[in-house]
Amino acid sequence: MLVNLSYKVLASRRADLEIVGLLQDLGLKKRCAFVCDPNVRSAVSGVCSSVSSHYDVDIMSPESLEKGYLEIFSRRLDSYDFIIGAGGGRSIDAAKYASFLAGKPWIAFPTILSHDGVVSSRAVLNDNNSKASIQAKEPAAIVVDMDIIKSAPYRYLAAGVGDLLSNISAVEDWKLAAKNGAEKYRPFIARLSRMSAMSAIDSLAEIKGMDYGGIETVLWSLVASGFAMNLYGSSRPCSGGEHNFSHALEAMHAGALHGEQVALGTLVSLYLQKKGWEKMRDIMLSFGLPVTAKDAGITEETAVAALHKARSVRDRFTVLSLYDMSPEYCRQVLEETGII
Ligand SMILES: [Zn+2]
Repeated sequence: MLVNLSYKVLASRRADLEIVGLLQDLGLKKRCAFVCDPNVRSAVSGVCSSVSSHYDVDIMSPESLEKGYLEIFSRRLDSYDFIIGAGGGRSIDAAKYASFLAGKPWIAFPTILSHDGVVSSRAVLNDNNSKASIQAKEPAAIVVDMDIIKSAPYRYLAAGVGDLLSNISAVEDWKLAAKNGAEKYRPFIARLSRMSAMSAIDSLAEIKGMDYGGIETVLWSLVASGFAMNLYGSSRPCSGGEHNFSHALEAMHAGALHGEQVALGTLVSLYLQKKGWEKMRDIMLSFGLPVTAKDAGITEETAVAALHKARSVRDRFTVLSLYDMSPEYCRQVLEETGII
């Protein structure tokens, strides 16, 4: 078993003052491609100018998350020594995949903590009109400026909590898969995944207040989730049927945040697993997460169609595999959980 756990994490209120030391520590050479979305440029300008004072930096913004486009984009990275992906989801996934193809080290510099993708080695890209999770490489380091996270709307941090809460139903699905001979179960990794969710639940007030301590809890919980996935070698410890539901919603361009969608899916999974979905609903409410499709901006029809499709979006044994998820039954489950 080969496990790659090589990344460093810099969490600081002045990442602009500390990032150069980290890059030097990593032994990175002169030329840096700073990949960022135009809408985060001002938020990351302090860090970007610090890096520019020691390295030759070119700022670039990928135009899309199409796999084919990023294959071409990656050739632009050939002449660089390393890549920094700065921003929300898009630039992180783009930098992750393009630097993997170019064979260059990359640094993740997220401006929001809305899901655990930042620490995973897989990139979520558009491929043939659907979302695909594609093998890439985990970052050499993750840089988090606590004040940038704090200045983003709370909704993103809440979505990060939603992605953590989904670990609870994902672990139950993992147990079911093991019981049905579809997967090996690793108690230590499962406990680590669950612990990430529980620590967020324990820090409700600090997270809601967006205190530094609360942001730190979400950060380390997401890092621990990534650690669990890397230890196991797939997203299984943190991704079950609730993620299938979210992937189906994404394919229909439902438009809610990933963490919000998987949290709704967690209610469905816990209901089907008979594992206390009502308690989870209360927890979601206390974090200000949407508990209905309407609150998440998803129509009833889309929610029903996505749940119906969820089982087939990928080949993974989950609680959805145990039920006949007909459109009628999907509607019934969504009504009984109050989602529609
Ligand atoms: Zn997720």
